Amino acid sequence: MAVPDGLDDGVVERLRDQVGANSLPREKGRPWWLRLAAELGHFFALMLWAAAVLAFIAGMAELGWAIVAVVVVNGLFAFFQEARAERASAKLRELLPANVQVRRSGRTTVVDAAELVPGDVVLLTAGDRVPADLDFLQASGLTLDESMLTGESVAVPREVGDAGAGGTFVAAGDAVGRVTATGERTRLAEIARLTTRAEPPASPLDLELRRIVTIIATVSVTVGAAFFLASLLIGNPLAGAFLFAIGVTVALVPEGLLPTVTLSLAMGAQRMSRRHALVRNLQAVETLGSTTFICTDKTGTLTQNRMSAVEVWTPAGTVAIEGTGYSPDASVDGTDAAREAAGRLARGARAASQGEIEEHDGEWRAVGDPMEAALAALDRRLGGAAARPVPLAGFAFDDERKRQSAVLRSGGGGPDGVSGLDGESGPDAESRPVRESAELWVKGAPETLLALCIGSGATGEAADDDAWRLSAHAATEQLAQRGLRVLAVASREMSDDEAAAAAGGGADAVVLERGLVLRGLIGLHDPPRPAVAGAIRQAREAGIRIAMVTGDHPVTAAAIAREIGLLGPGAGAPRVLEGASLPEDPQVLGALLDRDGVVISRVTPEQKLRVAHALQARGHCVAMTGDGVNDGPALEAADIGVAMGRSGTDVARNAADLVLLDDDFATIIVAVEQGRATYANIRRYLTYHLTDNVAELTPFVVWALSAGHFPLALGVLQILCLDIGTDLLPALALGGEKPSAGVLTRPPERRHLMDGSLMFRVFAVLGPLEVVFEMAAFAVVLWLGGWRPGGPVPVPAVIATASGAAFAAVVLGQLANAYACRSASRPAWRLSWAGNRMLLWAILVELALLAVFLFAGPVADVLGQAPPPLAGFIIAALAVPGVVVGDAVHKALRRRFGRGRTHLVLPHH
Ligand code: ADP
Ligand code: MG
Repeated sequence: MAVPDGLDDGVVERLRDQVGANSLPREKGRPWWLRLAAELGHFFALMLWAAAVLAFIAGMAELGWAIVAVVVVNGLFAFFQEARAERASAKLRELLPANVQVRRSGRTTVVDAAELVPGDVVLLTAGDRVPADLDFLQASGLTLDESMLTGESVAVPREVGDAGAGGTFVAAGDAVGRVTATGERTRLAEIARLTTRAEPPASPLDLELRRIVTIIATVSVTVGAAFFLASLLIGNPLAGAFLFAIGVTVALVPEGLLPTVTLSLAMGAQRMSRRHALVRNLQAVETLGSTTFICTDKTGTLTQNRMSAVEVWTPAGTVAIEGTGYSPDASVDGTDAAREAAGRLARGARAASQGEIEEHDGEWRAVGDPMEAALAALDRRLGGAAARPVPLAGFAFDDERKRQSAVLRSGGGGPDGVSGLDGESGPDAESRPVRESAELWVKGAPETLLALCIGSGATGEAADDDAWRLSAHAATEQLAQRGLRVLAVASREMSDDEAAAAAGGGADAVVLERGLVLRGLIGLHDPPRPAVAGAIRQAREAGIRIAMVTGDHPVTAAAIAREIGLLGPGAGAPRVLEGASLPEDPQVLGALLDRDGVVISRVTPEQKLRVAHALQARGHCVAMTGDGVNDGPALEAADIGVAMGRSGTDVARNAADLVLLDDDFATIIVAVEQGRATYANIRRYLTYHLTDNVAELTPFVVWALSAGHFPLALGVLQILCLDIGTDLLPALALGGEKPSAGVLTRPPERRHLMDGSLMFRVFAVLGPLEVVFEMAAFAVVLWLGGWRPGGPVPVPAVIATASGAAFAAVVLGQLANAYACRSASRPAWRLSWAGNRMLLWAILVELALLAVFLFAGPVADVLGQAPPPLAGFIIAALAVPGVVVGDAVHKALRRRFGRGRTHLVLPHH
């Protein structure tokens, strides 16, 4: 079963120039004009169009044009925001790694899947995505998940000679394939061309936004209609009543809501990607912010996944190994007998692996699974040959068995003879009858492997020793206590029939892997990542609970957990649990796990799924990491499935919402921080925008309640200028606010965007504050113009100056509001002025627009306003300190009395 040498590097280059990259043609989105049309034709836009048409019919052409301008400006604004968001997500998709093991010029290397060319020989193992259409040259226990193509989710067995389609996944087994078609010529590309893409289902955020939009739309239409009636009852002419109705409706419609939310999410996603956290859908940004529980695996996420075998225990004695990295050089300490036994064991373990080591510019690197690479290094360090023994057959690792085995010819080649190297038998390996005696070598988790052993012995014969199991367990425990990952290695003689059946692919691993003789244990060191301890502290501060969920040995897991500060000292219920002993009942399970710093060891993918469900049932928003072939369901079930960009399987990456490009646990915390920041920004934007609505609506209410005796402070056109003029940029700038320093020191926030505390702040604090200055400015200027309450309505020129004062008060109040909204807890003057550069620019533009609207004669005339006298300006200017101070008082009171808490109250027991 020697693997072919593959194409020569030179040929590869030429072919790549000829056929191009192995990537699917870019999905053609809808053409730009269709997207623009959609922005001009959605629900709010249609409402506004209808209003415009009615305005024209009613003979109010100015208003009609103004509304048309609103729709168009908003449509363009939304269009460009959506385009920016789409570009950002497209960039993110390109970051998703797709690596594949390929044989070229007789060497195995890892390349980007896009670099494959027809004729390339690729090595695939369980969990890999088939990178292109190919024919299988070798296959052992191979099944493919072809649901991508067929929709059928049952994995189908595939054999040598069968074809595999690009885009499918290897569900189990190993294979070697020769690429037959790449890129656009694959079946997947063909299918993609034929089928039109289905719309993705609505996410929780979509639903939440729809909820908000429906509420606001209903409110605005109802209020608009009410004003129409009220105004008619007061005795206004039909046209006037109508004008008010439109004004009210337009004032309340949050035109920019959807695109701004999308853009905030996209900006959040971009910031995350700069910190190596790649979200696969924008909504995950928001969900990340509400994470309350993180279930993380150990290897690679909490640790560096740079393994080295530091100790080998054998029945003949112990060997200590000290080397650097994956280099084959090392100092070895132990008796001759122990070294010899360790050498055989290492050779056998290496045969039952795929991972290898490779020298690159004088540096030794791991190719494939780092633990298996460490085994290759160990074999070399103990005097093994450079090349790996080539097995007659093998049974790949899976998460259920937690072991892997290889059939080796024992004469001539294997660890107990000398050469598995005549395995270059190539294609005729299957046809040649296996006559020589053979050995089965198994490596795997001691807890499963020891149970399959009938004795131990350094040479493969079970020694006459009753206490062997006790000593093996003691040795395992002792290695694990040092935080070492322990691997057991065992072997047994095979009958000719068994070997022949295995070589022909007609044998079952579970049947063969028994009656074994334990050859020894390997202790592998995998140092924790340096940033992890700090990240765990941060997560705790942020009110997030963490559990380690690992397939590893409980003692090893606990030792590592202690080292990184995850495992608490812990009184009461045990903190180190085992997958098999988790309670069946989801409620009991949830109660048992709902603590910080729990370690769940020896876990299977199915148990991970149960853990996710049990925690969710307790109200948690669960982030769960996974890297295995069968982790897909758990990752999908979790609120945030997290996969690794470097290690781990393509299957896991495909099921994940978040991919850690650097595999680092600390990156999850960074992503949570960004998620919270984005969520907070959307709330900031909403607060800002809705406050303006209060200021816009109040003049109509006052006017209606006074039965028309108190003049209208703001006209419809002025409202439109606020909505699509002065407000637009500050709102956008708030969506890009950086995470505030405290974002990770607070408990997680509740999930509704528009909740009670936001409403209170808008309708009881910020809104009324702005209104006070708006109406005061208006009334005082009227008074100065000679108007008295109960007196006749003043002349239009006076109303215009008063209206100008009210307009200025709202604009300046909104300016202060923007700064107030930058923080939900700290007074505006405590924030650094330049902390949000974009907001500074936005405010300059806002002031410039105010000047134009007020002082540019013709413009001001159309709007129905004029520059107010000094008193009006002073009151308008007072809106700035007024809003800021009022808001600060509210913040202080809330802190003091805990009003308007937005915190998720976690269930306690
Ligand atoms: P983790 O949660 O630390 O990533 P895994 O689920 O990857 O743990 O591994 C669980 C156990 O299975 C390991 O402790 C080891 O004993 C065994 N194991 C892992 N990978 C292999 C392999 N390639 N071959 C044999 N045994 C393995
Ligand atoms: Mg693992």
